[in-house]
Amino acid sequence: MKITGVRTRIYETQMNRWLGDANNPGGWNRLIAVIVNIDTDEGISGMSLGSVSAINHIHGIVNGLLAGQDPRGVRGLWQKMNDEAFKAGNRGIVGDAISAIDVALWDLKAKANNEPLWKTLGASERRVRAYASGLDMPLSDDDLRTFYEGMAAKGIAAGKLKVGLNREDDLRRLGIMHDALATSGKQPQLMIDSNEYWSPKQAIAHIREIERHYELLWAEEPARRWDYRGLRQVSQNVTTAVATGENLDELQEFTDLVANEAVDMINVGAGSGGITGMLQIADLAYAFDLPVTLMNCAANYTAHVAAVLPNHTHMEVLNAGRAYAMKVDNHIEDGWIILGDKPGLGIEYDEALLAPLLVDQPSPAPRSGRRVGAALYQVPADPSELEH
Ligand SMILES: [Mg+2]
Repeated sequence: MKITGVRTRIYETQMNRWLGDANNPGGWNRLIAVIVNIDTDEGISGMSLGSVSAINHIHGIVNGLLAGQDPRGVRGLWQKMNDEAFKAGNRGIVGDAISAIDVALWDLKAKANNEPLWKTLGASERRVRAYASGLDMPLSDDDLRTFYEGMAAKGIAAGKLKVGLNREDDLRRLGIMHDALATSGKQPQLMIDSNEYWSPKQAIAHIREIERHYELLWAEEPARRWDYRGLRQVSQNVTTAVATGENLDELQEFTDLVANEAVDMINVGAGSGGITGMLQIADLAYAFDLPVTLMNCAANYTAHVAAVLPNHTHMEVLNAGRAYAMKVDNHIEDGWIILGDKPGLGIEYDEALLAPLLVDQPSPAPRSGRRVGAALYQVPADPSELEH
């Protein structure tokens, strides 16, 4: 089997609600994504999702480096891509491109095996524990309750709240999330995520105050992603586990955190070197007896990877309508993501639903910069920011 080329299609759609965090409390509700298809001479095609900014690199890498290669040698091709990129660096947009290609190659390999990816990766179980994540800073208290009650109705009792701008709001909303998750009939498990908005000292003060009221399973990105001294300081001064890593690009950045005892719970997503990168990072965590939790993704496809990790706890589930136009072979049942038997990732597109969403040029990407005052002083959300 040989790789013959790559196709990319951009689509744009609206999600079923607003998503946001401490850096963007007003949030965004538009999804812009790229469907990547890597084709072969045997008619099997591997798919993944990528970002618009990485399109040129995706075409350049596949056509310049991978064309003619056997796609089933995924780990070898991953090494080839990273070796090729080593001088200029494999982070940022280049890393996004490598990640998207790697996911498509794993999809292709599993399809060539005519089995779901969780089996190709060696998982012995098809289920992965889920946690609910609202990316909920823009949601009103009522909408927050409705969202977590909806997730509790699917048997999910763990939830992660976006926090960071106002301690009073955070405590009140944690209570709302707690009570909504309790309607599952199970003991709620609470997490918070401040998305690097705090300095280490702010994080310690904020988390300690929350700990007076609630037990937290983890606090995510309580300081800058690369600040191992700050993250270690937080970890050593609160009871709650420090979770971080989902915005790092590659294994070597995780080794800095682990070697410096700056992380208690490793967050990882497909942007850190694709599925091959995720496996490497999860193995690093396993060697140090650290738990891993997978970041959200459209259609929850990385649950195939979670299923094979012995140290995985919960996977983040948004339920934000991002799987619209997809036919997805997994579902949530009694708090677990249950993976199906369709070959590969189990994602197909309903072309009739997709056609009206395809664009040549997407609208400008929603703003995702760091918020004014971050790590310096807290700037509460202005009510006008929250009006939609
Ligand atoms: Mg996060």
